[in-house]
Amino acid sequence: MTAEKSQKLFERAVKCIPGGVNSPVRAYGAIGVAPRFMERADGSRIYDADGNSYIDFIDSWGPCILGHNDARIREAVTRACSQGLSFGCATEIEVEMAEFICEHIPSIEMVRMVNSGTEAVMSALRAARGFTGKNKVIKFAGCYHGHSDAMLVSAGSGVMASGVPDSAGVTPGCVQDTMTAVYNDLDSVKQLLEENPGQVAAVIVEPVGANMGVVLPKDGFLEGLRSLCDRHQALLIFDEVITGFRLGFTGAQGYYQVAPDLTTYGKIIGAGMPVGAYGGRRDIMEQVAPVGPVYQAGTLSGNPIAMAAGLAQLRILYSQPEIYERLQEIGDWFFGEMKSFLEENQIPCQLNHIQSLGCLFFTDNLVEDYASAKKSDTAQYAAYFKHMLKSGVHLAPAQFEAMFLSAAHTQEDLTSVLEAVKSFFKENS
Ligand SMILES: *Cc1c(COP(=O)(O)O)cnc(C)c1O
Repeated sequence: MTAEKSQKLFERAVKCIPGGVNSPVRAYGAIGVAPRFMERADGSRIYDADGNSYIDFIDSWGPCILGHNDARIREAVTRACSQGLSFGCATEIEVEMAEFICEHIPSIEMVRMVNSGTEAVMSALRAARGFTGKNKVIKFAGCYHGHSDAMLVSAGSGVMASGVPDSAGVTPGCVQDTMTAVYNDLDSVKQLLEENPGQVAAVIVEPVGANMGVVLPKDGFLEGLRSLCDRHQALLIFDEVITGFRLGFTGAQGYYQVAPDLTTYGKIIGAGMPVGAYGGRRDIMEQVAPVGPVYQAGTLSGNPIAMAAGLAQLRILYSQPEIYERLQEIGDWFFGEMKSFLEENQIPCQLNHIQSLGCLFFTDNLVEDYASAKKSDTAQYAAYFKHMLKSGVHLAPAQFEAMFLSAAHTQEDLTSVLEAVKSFFKENS
């Protein structure tokens, strides 16, 4: 397996793009080799510039839940392209998209399209603040909500603290209203709410944590957030950018049967095109301009090509529930096999999984929040990543990311991946 072309492209890229990549998650910084430059992808496979083929578990970080380059989505896009790429005016397909979401997601009465998950979260928080007239928000350490200033706070190490920015360039002022609680710890939320009476506009959470590896909500955690929010008149926002349309069509809110006030979407909703959305209760969404005083706009929002792609994918997912049944089945089987292998061989790793999302943590403690996730041995993950890449398996180049299964992964693909996992641990024990 050579990587000469990727190497050359990387050398060109670093000269004119910071780090050679347009999003830091694509860099192989933690791995110490040049990132693979990809040329095309189809089904479960992705092909790099040197012609190497990999079974892909990034799936564009989730959007390609049907697998890469699905012909039905491609045709919808081609058809839309022939009508023009963008109008900056209202179109029928935007109405169809909004109707489809409002009809099938019970907590959503109105929805607004944006261009990314970051924008969706930023806008939902603004709407929540506008609606409640309160300023503060509570997020959880280890939950990622995009790169808007106010959300670049994690406080880390399970310390509850008012905003300490995580990034240079974020002013203390931008994060002074962001408070950080501990995932799966309702008391940490209760304490913040009680210490800030009448000041918290919203609690925002990934209902399944999927940006610190995969961390599942404990029984009662999401229900507990719902009742704490109700008691303190704060809005509950589910960031379903990853879980939306993945844990079943109705996402985590359907899976756990907890209804948020606002929901944010991204990733799957665009099927690989840049799309995000936020929606929820009518009384909150009617605060948004031009109906209400909360300003939010976008030149390319609801772009017809992006809507064609996203809606085609959503329609397939909704009309074929067997896709979710299969994702559940292959997920349970694949991650279950991995877990049994680890247990039988007493390998000190944790495997967290739900349906098509999973994460292998190189740590022997249970992973239930950010602090426990951070105990993982990232050097070991790097060695594992390299072994898998050599074996033709494309994983995220960082420990704290999910593995995304798609409907295109075959039993054969997954069997060969399991073999590669086993051979890694045999060579490294
Ligand atoms: C990816 C992600 C975002 C940000 O979405 P972008 O489209 O990358 O801006 C927000 N929230 C969650 C949970 C995500 O996984």
